[in-house]
Amino acid sequence: MTQICRLPAGGRIDRRTSLAFTFNGRRYEGHAGDTLASALLANGVDVVARSWKYHRPRGIVACGVEEPNAIVQLGVGADTVPNARATEVELYDGLVANSVNAWPSVDFDVMACASLFARFMPAGFYYKTFMWPKSFWMKYEHVIRKASGLGTCPTEPDPDHYDKMNVHCDVLVVGGGPAGLAAALAAGKAGARVILADEQGEFGGSLLSHRDVAAVAADPAADGAIDGALPMAWVAQTVARLQAMPEVRLLLRSTVFGYHDHNFLTVAERRTDHLPPAERKGPRERIWRVRAKQVVLATGATERPLVFGNNDRPGVMLASAVAAFLNRYGVAPGRRAVVFTNNDSAYRTALRLAAAGIAVAAVVDARRAPRGELPERVRKAGIEVIEHAVVVDTRGRRRVGAVDVMALDTRGTVAAGPVRTLPCDLVAMSGGWSPVVHLHAQSGGRPRFDPVKACFVPGAPVQAECSAGAANGSFALHACLTEGVAAGADAARRAGFTAATAAWTPTVEDAAEEPLAPLWVVPSPRGIERGPKQFVDLQNDVAASDIVLAAREGYHSIEHVKRYTALGFGTDQGKLGNVNGLAILAEALGNDIASTGTTTFRPNYTPVTIGAIAGPDLGELFEPVRRTALHAWHEEHGASFENVGQWKRPWYFPRPGEDLHAAVARECLATRKGVGIMDASTLGKIDIQGPDAARLLDWVYTNAWGKLGVGRCRYGLMLDENGMVLDDGVTTRLAEHHYLMTTTTGGAARVMAWLERWLQTEWPQLEVYLTSVTDHWATASVAGPDSRKVVQAVCDDIDFSPAAFPFMGCREGTAAGVPARVMRISFSGELAYEINVCANEARHVWEALMAAGTRYGITPYGTETMHVLRAEKGFVIVGQDTDGSVTPVDLGMDWIVAKDKDFIGRRSLSRADTARGDRRHLVGLLTDDPKAVLPEGGQIVTDARAQPPVAMHGHVTSSYFSACLERSIALALVRNGRNRVGEKVQVSTADGRTVPAAIARPVFLDPEGARQNA
Ligand SMILES: Cc1cc2nc3c(=O)[nH]c(=O)nc-3n(C[C@H](O)[C@H](O)[C@H](O)COP(=O)(O)OP(=O)(O)OC[C@H]3O[C@@H](n4cnc5c(N)ncnc54)[C@H](O)[C@@H]3O)c2cc1C
Repeated sequence: MTQICRLPAGGRIDRRTSLAFTFNGRRYEGHAGDTLASALLANGVDVVARSWKYHRPRGIVACGVEEPNAIVQLGVGADTVPNARATEVELYDGLVANSVNAWPSVDFDVMACASLFARFMPAGFYYKTFMWPKSFWMKYEHVIRKASGLGTCPTEPDPDHYDKMNVHCDVLVVGGGPAGLAAALAAGKAGARVILADEQGEFGGSLLSHRDVAAVAADPAADGAIDGALPMAWVAQTVARLQAMPEVRLLLRSTVFGYHDHNFLTVAERRTDHLPPAERKGPRERIWRVRAKQVVLATGATERPLVFGNNDRPGVMLASAVAAFLNRYGVAPGRRAVVFTNNDSAYRTALRLAAAGIAVAAVVDARRAPRGELPERVRKAGIEVIEHAVVVDTRGRRRVGAVDVMALDTRGTVAAGPVRTLPCDLVAMSGGWSPVVHLHAQSGGRPRFDPVKACFVPGAPVQAECSAGAANGSFALHACLTEGVAAGADAARRAGFTAATAAWTPTVEDAAEEPLAPLWVVPSPRGIERGPKQFVDLQNDVAASDIVLAAREGYHSIEHVKRYTALGFGTDQGKLGNVNGLAILAEALGNDIASTGTTTFRPNYTPVTIGAIAGPDLGELFEPVRRTALHAWHEEHGASFENVGQWKRPWYFPRPGEDLHAAVARECLATRKGVGIMDASTLGKIDIQGPDAARLLDWVYTNAWGKLGVGRCRYGLMLDENGMVLDDGVTTRLAEHHYLMTTTTGGAARVMAWLERWLQTEWPQLEVYLTSVTDHWATASVAGPDSRKVVQAVCDDIDFSPAAFPFMGCREGTAAGVPARVMRISFSGELAYEINVCANEARHVWEALMAAGTRYGITPYGTETMHVLRAEKGFVIVGQDTDGSVTPVDLGMDWIVAKDKDFIGRRSLSRADTARGDRRHLVGLLTDDPKAVLPEGGQIVTDARAQPPVAMHGHVTSSYFSACLERSIALALVRNGRNRVGEKVQVSTADGRTVPAAIARPVFLDPEGARQNA
């Protein structure tokens, strides 16, 4: 027989549509409108999981995203989704799900033997136990990882696709319960562009779980009716009105998972997961990147569990979840219930259980004399209310079979007197409600503890947001609606819609509720640490005793206790357990809850799939491969390539029989003695125009730019705010208000973004326009003593004589008949020219240069030769000889730092640490053995035989064999290096040896610059 626990009537399910599904290899049936959780409960499946640490049997506890236990592996193969919450998974025909963290099965799990030793495995057990012998940790780790953990990641490529949308709106309303719907309607009526997002498959929020339609229909004025209508009829009307508004966008199955700066929010929309695989079309998920003028947070509240002995037995559930399974899904989660509460809301569940024909053994209420309207109704229904009492323990094997109830003493802090055992297979517990303040906290707000409501409520807003309804600590339906209307109208007004008014005052028949009595942990007759486990965080097996132990062991900050015990880890991120946990910690430390505070609420609110985050940026689109316009020529001429940023650059051009070293030696010698040619097209190029262009350069470079003449080039060094070298390159003044900046190959995008950021945020008054032209221009760098003759032959309308075209000059003309910009600049220390032409003409011009250079033995060279040539001259490569912690002074480049103007990073250069004279300086290193090439990254020490810890004096940043100098050379950052020239040091190698070397000046060749100025 299937669906043995399905009620004969009621719920929002479609009983005419049966759906088949498989759970742990067994076939079951459910209905359209079910979740996997409700369908499992309808089929009487009580054990759905094993706990993380002790492998105790676990059942479904909640009915929403806060579910800690029912974590399943969905689907198989490439489509599989790990760690899905069964309470969120909408049922479809053919669904396949499996439990995780159990072997061989969830019913018989071998690792359950761990629970026999639970007493010896408290918080910190792993840290304390697996310390010895030290080398065994890797083995322990392997076993521990196998024994714990949740789902399994798919190993095959994801066959689905995902996309992203950017959108602006006036008002984003998060949560489509009564408060959110009312807010969206009020803002929409004012004419605002509204987005309403809700994580569920239907709008209505908690109203979806209110008393079932038939029950309320019989008595429309009953509790929960809105303006005399059934709650869900009001929802349907409201949604229809919103749908009719052209400026309103409704997003279902859409979780707002991140609230970032500047009212930027991220939403994950699950578009097809609820459909059978054959019907899934289009992207599986979509990330919406929303920039909202105003945000209304109507995210509701989560019911808190109660912390009592063995409260993790299957059959122990949140009272609201029991009501939801009864009302929304037509499922009876048990046959005989005990309701355990400290507040009035759980009495609704007791009434609903009774109305569904489920015996309610008693309501156990921790309060002294609950006399509110709801308790009275329960009494009138003939249900016993056991006042000022608590459930101290549960009994049962696979699921709860009975509970032990004890009275509280007069102070309410000790469970005393005789134990009364109540047989039951269901415990509906309620410890009060916690507003969902996650997004408010992510936005920068600080939730504050409200001692009357005994919960954290939103604090003062930091961004343009407000909270409404249960999320704001206003739990009664009437308050939710009126706050929602006011919040929506206010948000629209603040977004500029002046006609916005909160016109509607709803009538709601609410039962008034009395205050709750906080109960963070049930007093255990045997004491917290000796009595049965009282679980606080079910997902991570954290018990009250673990938190008390952590406090005793010196962990006083809630953030530290979290790390020590695992409280609030995992998929639920402490949605159920955290508030109880921190209250227990506060009590253990003798503090109040407010000062103990919460852990940090970080995005993501609920887990987001990696597929959705990656979106369409996969494969080639994730990291595009960039090839220069000359790539084919390089391939045809046997180039070996290396990746530089996204670019493929020729590394060297080996001839038959040559390895890297032989090819580079040949290329270096050819360039120094005759002429070499290199494809420099990948250098970043930014076209800068506007009357304030020179001011921009002045502020981003350390040197002054105002006096640079038209047709002249200048080298510049760019610093970050900390005064550290960020990028470098040559900038040319092409016209009065027109410059061309070059950047490093890898830094091009970063520099462009850097300049735009400053222009847009700090200097919007500057009239400057930036255009990235990296791909537009191809660049051939021709270097060597014969370079002038080669370029003169190709660019016959430019006068290359030294007087007419000096070093650091720029001329415009033609190259092989093609318009060209020629700069006389040098990164090799040789006489050199960079010829820039439109990328489409690159090959034509390159081949003309090759033809003109044949008689001089022109030799193409790659990045490796470029590195050797520049190292011989002591020219730095940003990112290789610098690492974000190097100032211009460290590089010996104080000559480029202007004394009489401001620039980014200037202030930082005078900070005590940056201005220290003995920082690491760029120096040269010459090995005693001229053939020994030092390892890049090698650490520099002075005494190789010293006992550890050995003082490190610096490290090698660049190292090569120089064919021209017939010896090895290296650049290094060495502490106080400039003042230690001549000193002997040792450089350690990866195989444990040390190589002796001497500190030298960093320029090994032509220090006067005669060659480049020739
Ligand atoms: C079972 C049950 C029965 C009740 N019965 C009554 C009653 O009879 N009378 C009465 O007065 N009160 C009753 N209440 C209380 C009342 O319904 C709630 O306090 C009220 O509905 C809360 O409204 P809300 O709009 O603030 O939040 P909710 O109705 O809880 O709506 C919040 C919505 O936001 C969604 N959400 C949360 N976070 C996100 C996110 N990050 N992204 C997208 N969506 C998100 C949630 O899924 C939910 O749909 C009942 C509550 C429950 C649970």
